[in-house]
Amino acid sequence: MTQTQIDELWAPFSKPIVTAEDYFRSLGGRGLKVSYMGEPVAEPVDHPVLRPSANAVAETYRLAIEHPELGGARTEKGKQVNRFLHVANKPEDLLAKHDMQRELGRRTGTCFQRCVGVDALGACHIVTFDMDAKNGTDYHKRLLAFLERAQAANVVIGGAMTDPKGDRSKAPHEQIDLDLFLHVVKRDDKGIYVSGAKMHQTGVINSHWIIFMPTMRLTALDKDFAVVGAIRVDAPGVSYIVGRQTNDTRILDGGEIDAGNAKYAGTEAIVVFKDVFVPHEHVFMDGEWAFASPLVSRFTTFHRSSYACKTGLGDVLIGAAAAAAEQNGVEKASHIKDKLVEMTHLNETIYSSCVAGAARSVTMHSGAQINDEMLSNVAKQNVTRFPYDIARLAQDIAGGLIVTMPSEKELLNKETGALMRKFLKTKSNVNVIDRMRMLRLIENMTIGRNAVGYLTESLHGAGSPQAQRIEIGRGMELEIKKGLAFYLCGATKDRNVPVKMVIGHEEPRLPIDHVGVGQSREVELTHAWVGETVDA
Ligand SMILES: Cc1cc2nc3c(=O)[nH]c(=O)nc-3n(C[C@H](O)[C@H](O)[C@H](O)COP(=O)(O)OP(=O)(O)OC[C@H]3O[C@@H](n4cnc5c(N)ncnc54)[C@H](O)[C@@H]3O)c2cc1C
Ligand code: SF4
Repeated sequence: MTQTQIDELWAPFSKPIVTAEDYFRSLGGRGLKVSYMGEPVAEPVDHPVLRPSANAVAETYRLAIEHPELGGARTEKGKQVNRFLHVANKPEDLLAKHDMQRELGRRTGTCFQRCVGVDALGACHIVTFDMDAKNGTDYHKRLLAFLERAQAANVVIGGAMTDPKGDRSKAPHEQIDLDLFLHVVKRDDKGIYVSGAKMHQTGVINSHWIIFMPTMRLTALDKDFAVVGAIRVDAPGVSYIVGRQTNDTRILDGGEIDAGNAKYAGTEAIVVFKDVFVPHEHVFMDGEWAFASPLVSRFTTFHRSSYACKTGLGDVLIGAAAAAAEQNGVEKASHIKDKLVEMTHLNETIYSSCVAGAARSVTMHSGAQINDEMLSNVAKQNVTRFPYDIARLAQDIAGGLIVTMPSEKELLNKETGALMRKFLKTKSNVNVIDRMRMLRLIENMTIGRNAVGYLTESLHGAGSPQAQRIEIGRGMELEIKKGLAFYLCGATKDRNVPVKMVIGHEEPRLPIDHVGVGQSREVELTHAWVGETVDA
């Protein structure tokens, strides 16, 4: 395409999005093809069920203005950009990113949707550089040009990795329908055309651009599935089917107590691609199948630590549980105090593994800084479990009313409203409506709309638990550990095992090019281990 045609793609963003209000305006009038509950939605940003998810993203713009050091970052050229559009190049960048994520989790109590995009940028930064070094392609230059425009416009980028995947035991080319994995259907002198779908796409209807990427290790037979590119969300041929979230339509009932968190929510959608054109300038991989695995690995390493966001949600839930205990008059009971300590311990354990991975991060050839792979997988493995324990303890402390409490509409009924006020009263200084609000918030985060973000997203996002266990297994250095044991017990001579003292990891542990991916076929993972070479 000519430069003018590329400029046209960026024309709607010629005025940078700065404030939350700019952001809301930027979401209107785009003509997206969106379906929610079987009905087309002309303006998702104005839809009452979907609006809370745009509110959550808008906080990323507010934070960047209020706390530029946290919500924003300086590029190497000295430009101030939103941190969600910044490729980290030192450990401090990653540490600040995790603190930003925690802060936004505290402000919204939900998924604020922007991290998949920044983690896709980081992964593409590393892998396009490596691909070009090996093959003489110019993907990295294209990515940098895209990034610069995205930073200047301050757009939201959705990260689209997860394919529908069909039969999980089969490779993309073996599926009964090739569209079960996104793939190239046509190439011409201007670019490529892709068809297929991406599932569970966080915040995609609140985004401006999408970066799509392969979801797993590929072989030469899957060449057309090895494709990475960027498209505008309103590109011709793209449509969206928005996911249903538990209790999402409570917001339509009127009132705001029963919704639990009426202002903020996450959102996910299936994105359908039908012959979608991507100009060469926005193609960052096309056919380099051997780089699919490192790309997924780099992405998941970034993204698994991004789940520091959940510690912000944990802060909210711990606070809600403590407040509910006070409202019930049990705050001094030793087991309640102990449960709050346990919740805090679990939450801070997640945080510590995320920041440890940032502190022990490494610089890649492209200059991008990436979290320690092992610690990032440990962080995400913690996230697959601890929020469930925290949620259980919050429910324990809150009492059964979180699931049996009548609707706020009873308060409007003279007879039942009076009974509610009488029987939900706990102490003279506790307002019944405040008590109801607190209980609904706990319901919202543990079994309601934002349990999507706090629990199931914690479980499956960035790969299901087994994906991290495979990575942890791959990196556990058993031979070295056995060597230490043999050395100490004096049996080293007999067993001829290497002895390597690695305490403290004096050398940074470099990420390995391997098959350990978020959504890979486990059958393959059993026979591909550390040191396997990538051959594009
Ligand atoms: C709320 C939410 C938000 C998300 N946001 C995004 C997003 O923004 N972008 C994005 O790209 N993705 C996103 N995801 C997708 C997420 O990465 C996937 O859900 C995850 O990788 C699991 O894939 P799946 O849902 O298809 O489950 P499956 O892959 O079907 O997994 C189900 C179970 O089967 C097991 N399994 C699967 N395949 C195999 C195999 N070959 N061998 C053995 N066991 C196997 C898994 O370990 C798991 O236990 C999101 C998910 C959620 C829940
Ligand atoms: S789950 Fe957390 S890391 Fe992922 S996009 Fe949402 S807020 Fe960001």
